[in-house]
Amino acid sequence: MNTKHFKFSVGLRVILVLASVAFTVTVGLVGRVDGQLNQTPANAEVHVLHIRGPVYMIVGAGGNITASVGPDGVLMVDTGLAQMTDKVLAALRQLQTDVNTNGIGEWKYAAETRSNVPRMRDTNPPPKPIRYIIDTHVHPDHTGGNEKVSAAGRTITGGNVSGDIRNAAEGAAIIAHENVLVRIHFMNGEGVQIIHIPNAHTDGDSLVYFRGSDVIATGDLFVTTSYPIIDIERGGNVQGIIDALNRILDLSIAEFRTEGGTMIVPGHGRLCDSADVAYYRDMVTIIRDRIQEMIKKGMTLDLVKAAKPTRDYDPRYGATTGFWTTDMFIEAVYKSLSARK
Ligand SMILES: [Zn+2]
Repeated sequence: MNTKHFKFSVGLRVILVLASVAFTVTVGLVGRVDGQLNQTPANAEVHVLHIRGPVYMIVGAGGNITASVGPDGVLMVDTGLAQMTDKVLAALRQLQTDVNTNGIGEWKYAAETRSNVPRMRDTNPPPKPIRYIIDTHVHPDHTGGNEKVSAAGRTITGGNVSGDIRNAAEGAAIIAHENVLVRIHFMNGEGVQIIHIPNAHTDGDSLVYFRGSDVIATGDLFVTTSYPIIDIERGGNVQGIIDALNRILDLSIAEFRTEGGTMIVPGHGRLCDSADVAYYRDMVTIIRDRIQEMIKKGMTLDLVKAAKPTRDYDPRYGATTGFWTTDMFIEAVYKSLSARK
């Protein structure tokens, strides 16, 4: 990693940390599980972080967006809030232009894949449109932009080139959980695997794994800004969250000890590695075990809340106000475990 890139990353980390704070205070409200609160400040901006290869993280549009941008076009994981779509599309358009004119250092695949051929043939091929939208789950802070982004799938490259694209009139294909049990795409030089996780944050969550770039987009199966949000009414369950976190860890390879290596894009909050996921998995598992013990002793929900089973983690993840309070989390864990009897 050269110094310039390092500074760039640090600068973006700062932006991401600030963005995390902003989420907690404002945009986080938007993640309300029932989607009732659905606004973000009119002056909110989106920020783009290059992760690796063709994979980018876009923050500030509600839930985090992960995008693969390259010669095959754009594949998006989640689309953010509806009211942020214009800014997301502008950021993607800028990215496509940058990738197209400057290329990116990592585009050095030796293989003559379909993705690589246009670059081998022509140093400045026309950008291709948004081809796929993969929804990690149904909440509006992750899917609000679907309609508009899909429609833009045929126009994002600009009028003079979109006419050249055979399937341009179709718009981007939206891939949601019903049909993602086993789906793999090859896009921009790498396999993109969609892994369905049953009954976790909701009853239809997916992880999206960029196999070449080694990046996993988790949706709200993993967040850094709060305790896990468990949408009990939509089939969520704490055990599913733990299963999902373990699955992410199974897929991840750390670079040194538990740091670096596979990069993880959480549903909300900053870019992470497997150390962050392991810490979070341990936290959720410990709290689950404590509440399980209390249920075994016959304690009611009120008694469990009064016993403060999350106390040591509250300074980091707790909240007494806002869309997902500590009490709501404890209640969701209690209900998850009671329902399993
Ligand atoms: Zn969600």
